[in-house]
Order: sequence, then C-alpha cells, then structure tokens
Amino acid sequence: MSELSRELLREQAGHQSFDRGLGYLDQISGLRIDQGIVRATVSGRRRYRVHVTAEGTFSWYCSCPWAEEGNCCKHVVAVCLVYLYEREHDSGNTPTVPDITAYLHTLDHGQLVELLLEETEESSALTFRLEVLAALAAGELDALHSLFESALHITGPVPFDQAFEYARAVHSAVDVVHVLEESGRTEAAVELYNAVCEFTYEAEEMVEDLDGEVLGALEDLHL
Ligand SMILES: [Zn+2]
Repeated sequence: MSELSRELLREQAGHQSFDRGLGYLDQISGLRIDQGIVRATVSGRRRYRVHVTAEGTFSWYCSCPWAEEGNCCKHVVAVCLVYLYEREHDSGNTPTVPDITAYLHTLDHGQLVELLLEETEESSALTFRLEVLAALAAGELDALHSLFESALHITGPVPFDQAFEYARAVHSAVDVVHVLEESGRTEAAVELYNAVCEFTYEAEEMVEDLDGEVLGALEDLHL
C-alpha cells in the first residue's frame, strides 16, 4: 500500500466512512506525531484511540468495533484529514500536545478526585457516568434503576442535540448489565435489562438519530 493521501484514504475507507469522517474533525483531541506515527483520541459514541502510520506505508489502528473488523473507519479518516491539513499548512510543524496520561500519573489521589469533581460541574455526561459507577460499586440497585430511568425513559421527542448523550446512556446501561452478570448478580442484571428495554421502547421513533448512534446502541442492547 502507498503513502497517505486524501485519494488513498477515500479509497481505503469508502465514500460513506470518508464522508462521515468529515463530521468528526472537531471531535479529535490529543493529536501528536512521533516518528511518523500520528496518535489521537476521537470522541464518538465512546472515546476511541487512533494510531496512523502517516509516513511510509499507510496503516491504521482504531479501537472502535468497525475498525476491529478490519475496516478503515470514520475516526481514522478524521485523524488523517486533520494530519494532512496540518502538514500542508504548517510545513510539518504540528504543535505537539502535552502528554495528559503522564501528567495525570504525577497527581495524587486527592488531586485527581478534586479535578474530576470540578469537571462534573461542567459535564452532565461525566456526572451521570460517575453516579452510575458509584451506585454500582455500592450495589444500590434502586439508584441504578432511577438513574437509567431519568436518562432513558422516553416521555417525548428527543432532539438531535441530545441523541448522542442518549446513545451514551444506552451503552452505559449495557456495560452495567454486563458487570452485574459477570459478578453473579444475575437477577439484578435481568431486572435492569428489562427496565432499560422498557425505557428505550420508543427510542427508535422518538429520538432524532441522524447519525445512527442510538440505533447502534440499541443493537448492542439487544445482542
Ligand atoms: Zn474507529
């Protein structure tokens, strides 16, 4: 295979993934380049890690399910397009982003807790995620039930700008059901699963799911 270019990328990804990749250009964080390897994180349904060999023979890795099946996915497309743009407009002088992982390892437990709590003020998605984890850790099944009820129970049309968060909550419910199952709490897993199916019963009709994120999440749920 040859070196990375827009033409090669379109050929590898196909028109559909290529076009969908255009929608992820502003979802990329932590882009850095080291010895011809481009690394970045792309926020989609979840956060996906992408590596791309941008010099020499083009190859890619993304942690999403579509790429795991060997496909050149929209996340890879997005990272490559940003990289190509920067290479053309910045003469290879892409600013390197500080290494967040290494920095976080330098913080102590209390500092990490404070940092996360500060962020919960800004992010309802993070708050939801932590509340779910806290309820799960404490075995508070009623709390889990009401958290998912408030996030997922359809009471009216859900507009496009809330579809992404809705899909995330469905994924989170799937994860929790798995954790309950794996830790031997089968009855609780079944109960929560049935409740989530009920909450999401009308989701396909009521959520303005232009990107198919909710549909994908519901497919995961009904696997
Ligand atoms: Zn991907």
